[in-house]
Formats: sequence, structure tokens, C-alpha cells
Amino acid sequence: MGNNTLNPKNFTIVVKIGTTFSPVGRKALLCGSGELGKEVAIELQRYGIEVVALDKYPNAPAMQIAHRSYVLSMLDGERLREIIETEKPDYIIPEIEAIATPTLVELEKEGYNVIPTANATWLTMNREGIRRLAAEELGLPTSPYRFAETREEFEAAIKAIGTPCVVKPVMSSSGHGQSVCHSEQEIDRSWQIAQEGGRAGAGRVIVEGFVKFDYEITLLTLRNSAGTITLKPIGHHQVDGDYRESWQPQPMSEVALAKAEEIARKVTGALGGYGIFGVELFICGDEVLFSEVSPRPHDTGMVTMISQDLSEFALHARAVLGLPVPSVRFYRPSASKAIVVEGDSDKVVFGNLEEVMAEEDVQIRIFGKGEVVGHRRLGVILASADTIEEALAKAERAYSKLQIEVLPR
Ligand code: AMP
Repeated sequence: MGNNTLNPKNFTIVVKIGTTFSPVGRKALLCGSGELGKEVAIELQRYGIEVVALDKYPNAPAMQIAHRSYVLSMLDGERLREIIETEKPDYIIPEIEAIATPTLVELEKEGYNVIPTANATWLTMNREGIRRLAAEELGLPTSPYRFAETREEFEAAIKAIGTPCVVKPVMSSSGHGQSVCHSEQEIDRSWQIAQEGGRAGAGRVIVEGFVKFDYEITLLTLRNSAGTITLKPIGHHQVDGDYRESWQPQPMSEVALAKAEEIARKVTGALGGYGIFGVELFICGDEVLFSEVSPRPHDTGMVTMISQDLSEFALHARAVLGLPVPSVRFYRPSASKAIVVEGDSDKVVFGNLEEVMAEEDVQIRIFGKGEVVGHRRLGVILASADTIEEALAKAERAYSKLQIEVLPR
């Protein structure tokens, strides 16, 4: 570990970055190497930081950028510790939720710098931890909820919350294992889906009251050495718990925006540390409900790669390094459209790119993922315009021109 200067937990101020690969250089270790980690790796390297990338499969997107990489199950705490003790990174940066977070908690106690804090990664890995913190300790408004471990408890939870309700394994993300239970006839179905879709296999679920929100947002919130900044709200559209389009700024009433910012400040303040957080909120008129929070860049925040002078990834890197971010310059209304590919293939070809890129203010990112089984997000289209509607329409037009060939294995 670097021996001087930076430990955000103690709010020490002097930041120094030495020659890369030398004893005075600085090193970041990414736990998770997807498209979000790839952008973080690029941003860190702009500061001359050595980047080591971890994931469960070789050639993951961030590994293609990193100086070195390791393939492992990040739920394997022993192996994770072994790599961290070998590499001795200055910053341990989780990119996903499925990590052996108790190991991160121990490593932090031993002096390692886990971003934003080991406790934040531990609490947000499990829906129960963050929900109880938000609703019961911080008193933030949320949907009504119950937790259930067994089929009997599950039935009782559904009866208590009422239908329709949303069922999710406590250890899950991106819609895996999630379902809407519309009536008591669907209890078995929802239980089955949750038991098959959880990250850690069968187990505990959360039953949430179904919120008929007007819209949902991600409020990106940056905790950095100059203070806390909330960015312009990002609206998004989800299909099966997975984001398909996002846009910024989402129009909101002043009252709702003020409430959203207050919730974001409270929850990120409780989690602590430096870095970007994606605070997910449901908005009903002027009412704002907390849903969940990622203590890391958020997929819906990819829109910031075109909408702002510093993207959520640039901001994360800067905050992680302990550098101040006095303000963020928002350019103009923007949209992102996920390129989700379906099939079973290790050879996907994107064509007609000349047409896709023909309009001004359109960009594309191709993540470099090696295969698709089922459906998978392989890229994103970004667009900006004078209004959100135009930006969304422009992204959609570009997407409609994209030719995707999914070749047999
Ligand atoms: P999550 O994985 O908890 O972020 O859920 C994924 C998506 O499912 C959210 O972005 C919402 O669109 C939807 N969703 C989750 N929970 C609820 C709820 N309690 N009521 C209505 N929609 C929900």
C-alpha cells in the first residue's frame, strides 16, 4: 500500500501520484470488470494509476484496459485476499455487488482503502441491509416491505403487503429472480422465480408493495473531498428490471427534486467514503420514495458520458483519488440507449455503423464482451440534442440503423 497521504476515511488532505509501476506509483484494484469498470479503468489511467482488474471470466471489458488481470470468483474471500495481499493496491474499487464483502470489511480494518467504504459494499450487497438502514435507521420513505425466508413466511408476507407486490431475492440485481405477484394465485410462481434467480441460490426474499410511480430516477451523488454534489436527475426505462433507455435531466417539480436530493444526501452520508453513488428513487407527484443505492457508478448513468464535462466514471476516479470536484458542468439534454443482444454466440458483428454515426451528437460504445447467452448488454448509444425528447428520438434513430449479426458458435 502507498505509505503516505491518502486515506479518505481520515480525511487527510495531501494527494500525490507518483510514477506508474514505481514504488511511488499508485495502484487501483477493480473488483468487477464490466463496462462500468472499463470506463473507471480508463479514467484512472488518465491520472497514471496502475490498474488491476478482477472478474470471473477472462477478457472482461475492463481487463482489456487494465495493466494486469485475475480471473476468480469474487465471492471466494480467500482467493480475493490472496490477490489483494499480493498486489497491495492503494484503492480497492468494487464494480459489482457480488463480492465477498466480509473479506473487504476485514481488509479495511487492516488498513486497505475500500471504495467508498467496506461497510457500504457490505450493506448494499444485500437488499435487506440497505433497506433496513434507509427505512428503519434513517427514516427515509420507502415502499412497504417484509422479508421472508421460508414458503410459509413468504405467504404471510404477501398477505401482509397485499397484491400487487414485487418479489426479489435479497441477493440479486438487474431483475434476476424478480417478479410482480398480482394475486394470491401467483404466490407459487413468484416464490419459484425468486428461488431460482437469486445470486446465492435459494433463500431470503423481500416482498415490496408495488409502487405506481409516475417515473423513476437515478440521482447520481458524488461524495468528494470538496463536499457532496448531486447531479441532474436521470430518468430511465426498465424492462424486466434491466435498464433500456436513460435520459438526463428528468423534469421534476422543485419539491420532488428537493426531497430527492435530501434523501440522496442522507443515504450517501450514512454510507460514507468518497466516490459516486447511484441513488434510485420512485417519484409519485411530489412524493419521493427511496428504492436502493449503488455505492459505485450506475448503468443508467452512462448517459453522463455525453451530457456532462465529467462523466460519472471521471467523477468516481477523481473522488476516489481524494481530489476535489468543485462543480460539474452539464452540457445539454442527453439520452442513452442500451444495445441488448439476444442469442447464443461468441461472434457478434455490429454493422451499418456509418449510418448509425451519421447524425451529429451521436456516439457509440462497444463494450468488448466475448459472448452472449440469452440476452446481454453489449454496448450503448449516446445522443444529445436541444430537448430530452429529441435526444431520445436521436438515440432511437441511431439504434434502428444498427445491424447486429449474431453468428453461430
Ligand atoms: P431493482 O432491482 O430493485 O432496482 O428493481 C428493478 C426495477 O424494477 C426498478 O427500477 C423498477 O422499475 C421496478 N421495481 C422495483 N421495485 C418496485 C416496486 N416496489 N414497485 C414498482 N416497481 C418496482
